[in-house]
Amino acid sequence: MPITVMCPSLTCRAVLRVPDNVRGKKVRCGQCGMVFAVPAQKPATSASPSSQNAPTK
Ligand SMILES: [Zn+2]
Repeated sequence: MPITVMCPSLTCRAVLRVPDNVRGKKVRCGQCGMVFAVPAQKPATSASPSSQNAPTK
């Protein structure tokens, strides 16, 4: 399942979709070419399955 990470470059901030097996590894931003490490944990922008399944009503 792909995850989304934001490019840490302040002048880029591109949102990248990368495979979740790159967590803890480094990826290259396709927009600015910056190489950065993907956080091992899910980014806050993605809702976790547990919170997604929680009933709101
Ligand atoms: Zn970038």
